[in-house]
Amino acid sequence: MSVIYDRVALIGLGLIASSMFWAMKRGGLAGEVTGYARSDATRATARRIGLCDRVCDTVAEAVAGADLVVLCVPVGAMGDVAAAIAPHLKPGATVSDVGSVKAAVIQAVGTHLPDNVHFIPAHPLAGTEHSGPESGFATLFDNRWCLLVPVEGTDPDALHRLSRLWQGMGANVDTMEADHHDLVLAVTSHAPHLIAYTMVGVADDLRRVTDSEVIKYSAAGFRDFTRIAASDPTMWRDVFLTNKDATLEILGRFTEELFALQRAIRTGDGDHLHAYFTRTRAIRRGIIEAGQDTDAPDFGRVKAVR
Ligand code: NAP
Repeated sequence: MSVIYDRVALIGLGLIASSMFWAMKRGGLAGEVTGYARSDATRATARRIGLCDRVCDTVAEAVAGADLVVLCVPVGAMGDVAAAIAPHLKPGATVSDVGSVKAAVIQAVGTHLPDNVHFIPAHPLAGTEHSGPESGFATLFDNRWCLLVPVEGTDPDALHRLSRLWQGMGANVDTMEADHHDLVLAVTSHAPHLIAYTMVGVADDLRRVTDSEVIKYSAAGFRDFTRIAASDPTMWRDVFLTNKDATLEILGRFTEELFALQRAIRTGDGDHLHAYFTRTRAIRRGIIEAGQDTDAPDFGRVKAVR
């Protein structure tokens, strides 16, 4: 594959940025990749493991001359980071991000960027419960979706180029409008995470009563919940604070359904339960048929390959 951007700057060096770096290297998609993280510790780790061709001590140095700058920090930090990079951007550069929420990021970032750069928000639908510079791997985006969320007046060539980069990193690319993105993700990712956090919290309360039996005999269902609930607390705090309306809407519907199932259990309405579980089983089959998970009993986890 050929070089798509001569210079790429990754701001924030965690799971997503490090996976992007290894995926860009794998595909030969970038001439030089610079990186910046706010802490000395993360920059030192990045240098030690060869994450980025050049790790910079300032954000200004990292973005200077870059054709593409990707913000890979928690959603709540995007606005401040955009303000910090704005004076140093090369005219004509593309600025993108990987945040899990889009309307709030567009609002927070868009206000700071100069008119002479292209701002194209993005969200790769791929991740693990691990975070930090050592957690990334080249295959993270393979056969996963990356949603591009172009704002009004986006330059088609800049959009096409960013799309080619994500495809080069293994992703299938689609475009979506910001509010729609936030609603879809509230259903597919944000509400499920909150439910997992709650279930693990409940089990933890119980554990004190049952003296560790919850952990000792933890069956697959609960184990999968604990994996999701081990996700980065800062990232997920920011997701709920910035995708408030859509998440609350979905949680409202969830609560109604839960009450209906609760009633079915109380009244012994087996037909209701059976019909409900038959419908949900078909959804699982659909996800497997769409290639978005495997049938493996361990949740089809990907093997990390750097
Ligand atoms: P991560 O592994 O936790 O790394 C976050 C990076 O952001 C670190 O380099 C950290 O710097 C930096 N950072 C944290 N707070 C900051 C602040 N207030 N100001 C400046 N920099 C800050 O995170 P990640 O999983 O790669 O997530 C990055 C973005 O991708 C988030 O917006 C998230 O919503 C999105 N995303 C995540 C996933 C996922 O499953 N993890 C999937 C898709 C999209 P230090 O290391 O120096 O503290």
